[in-house]
Amino acid sequence: NTSFALVIAILLVSNPWATLLIAGIAVFLLMSYRAYSSLSQRYQSLSLLYDFTQLVSGVRNPDAVLEAMLGHAKNLLNAERAEIWLTAGEVEQRRMIVDDAGWRTSVMDETSARMVERWFATNQDALVVSKSSQNDEHRRLAEALDAEDCIIAPITESGRVVGLVAVVDRIGELTTFGAQDGRMFATLASHASVALENGRLIQRLHDQARQREHEALHDALTGLPNRVLFGERLRESVAMISSRGTSPAVAIMDLDGFKEINDTLGHQSGDVVLTEIARRIDHIVDPTVLVARLGGDEFAFLMPDTSDRAAIEDQARRIISAVGDPIQIDGLSINMGISVGVAVAPFDGDDAATLMQRADVAMYVAKGQADSVSFYVAGHDANTPRRLTLAHDLRHAIEDGQFHLVYQPKARLDDGVVLGVEALARWIHPTLGPISPDEFIPLCERTGIMADLTEWALETALAQIPVWQSHGLDWGVSVNLSMRNLIDSELVPTVTRLLEESGAPHELLTLEITETNVMTDPARTIDILNTFGEMGIHLSVDDFGTGYSSLSYLQRLPIDEVKIDKFFVLAMSTDANAEAIVRSILDLAKHLQLSVVAEGVEDHHTWERLRDLGCGVAQGYFLARPMTAEDLMHWSRTQTVSRSMAELKLVRTAS
Ligand code: C2E
Ligand code: CA
Ligand code: CA
Repeated sequence: NTSFALVIAILLVSNPWATLLIAGIAVFLLMSYRAYSSLSQRYQSLSLLYDFTQLVSGVRNPDAVLEAMLGHAKNLLNAERAEIWLTAGEVEQRRMIVDDAGWRTSVMDETSARMVERWFATNQDALVVSKSSQNDEHRRLAEALDAEDCIIAPITESGRVVGLVAVVDRIGELTTFGAQDGRMFATLASHASVALENGRLIQRLHDQARQREHEALHDALTGLPNRVLFGERLRESVAMISSRGTSPAVAIMDLDGFKEINDTLGHQSGDVVLTEIARRIDHIVDPTVLVARLGGDEFAFLMPDTSDRAAIEDQARRIISAVGDPIQIDGLSINMGISVGVAVAPFDGDDAATLMQRADVAMYVAKGQADSVSFYVAGHDANTPRRLTLAHDLRHAIEDGQFHLVYQPKARLDDGVVLGVEALARWIHPTLGPISPDEFIPLCERTGIMADLTEWALETALAQIPVWQSHGLDWGVSVNLSMRNLIDSELVPTVTRLLEESGAPHELLTLEITETNVMTDPARTIDILNTFGEMGIHLSVDDFGTGYSSLSYLQRLPIDEVKIDKFFVLAMSTDANAEAIVRSILDLAKHLQLSVVAEGVEDHHTWERLRDLGCGVAQGYFLARPMTAEDLMHWSRTQTVSRSMAELKLVRTAS
């Protein structure tokens, strides 16, 4: 440089014109240098960013992004250490430091943090505090970082400053951070902000995915694993039987009488009971035992490897006793029972489905006996009482479409005009064939699916009304209610909804209830019946005469019709007492202005006798057997013909 300066000086003195030339060369050199330097700077920061991007792009965890970034910044800027302060935002507040000793977190001084925050509230650029800096505020910031010289840049999250990143103490006595270092660091910091935010976003997505996965595998009410997860674990356990020689046991547990709780105390109380029971079961079993809620009031447990039956029975007994402790709800003390059925692999089956099914069979055996625990007995299925098989299969029968309705017409005794039909449920079991209502109706009551059956029957029957109307038949339809229905708080809303959905006139629906049903819980039942009465729905007392209820009781009910039980009607022709009873019922009904239907009219003689006694309507095999909707339409067409023949016959008898 000195030689160069001397040459220029001599040139200037000797030849002033050379100044022009020198100035030209100088400008050219300066421009070339500037171009080169900015190019190299840009190249440098690009390659820096590229390195950094490479570094963080594979990192999914925000902490790892920070660590990578600090280490990189420290090395690149030749600093003693690099720091990050997170003072706000989504993550917890903390201070992280990378120096030659490695990575650590440290306590962040509150006052310093606030001071830095205040600074970045108005300045978003990187701040370079060199060793020689005299600016008071800058020096205070450096002191907050315990730094002689430093560069501080903000970390932003969605444009908001949430902390700072700094490189502290330039290595080497004679050098300090300069403006170019500041620009480089700023780029790095802004890139880190983006990486950090992406990392957090990814983590949030991960968390959400994990949450969703949890929800898919757990029961929302009790938080227990659900049927899906239970099945998965069971399959896993079963898969290890041969390789590890383990022996998993599965138990299916069903609460006794839970439906009553739900019906009488409402679903909310039912939920409370389920939650409490789930908690108790989960708490009482060994930690290795998996407890799940399969649905409704059905629970299960899985012992991945059992030593003996005594160990399984011990778990079951503990559960039974924990469930049996009184539960306080709505000021009531409730005692629940639970029935447990157990199947043990590989003896009772070596695949998940078989084990579940056999535990289920065992559970039904437990329900039907005094002891609440039952182990599946090999070859048991064949001897499983029919009732248990039916009770089990009933649970899916409605949704599987195994049920259908048949319709039995009711006709005016005077002239044989059909006034309406009674809907009667039929169950065709896939292997056992037709099951009589006398068998499945009590089972529906006991297994708690009566509400479902009634809802299905109402919906199906009401759907026929418009079909009949389109054939010019203004028939009403009668649907049977059971005792369970009348204590179900959902009954009125369900009937209301179904009527609305079908659009059928209310007075075309008759609900048949039995005398005994009404007498079970008169106060409650009367409320429900009054509501139906007000809605214009017809009410009929079925099987009248068998219930010994005080006849005056009928007066208090909003009923329209009584149906004389077929027992009396069938006996009428041979038993004088039976006829006497029929007569007194007819008298009473006349008094109370109720219409009377005689059911079980099987022959012409009974038909005529009832007509003569003043009975209004008859139903029975003499008129028609219960028929499918299709057969009924066919029958109604032939009916017009046979009715005229009957009329002819009546006229003839009269003359
Ligand atoms: P129910 O309500 O008394 O129905 C009349 C029963 O008498 C029907 O039996 C019908 O087939 C039968 N029957 C009709 N005419 C004659 C006759 O002339 N002679 C004789 N011997 N029997 C006759 P089904 O269909 O077997 O139903 C039996 C009971 O099951 C019904 O008695 C009813 O209480 C109940 N049930 C049927 N379907 C339903 C339903 O959807 N819901 C409810 N809750 N109960 C139903
Ligand atoms: Ca009936
Ligand atoms: Ca009846």
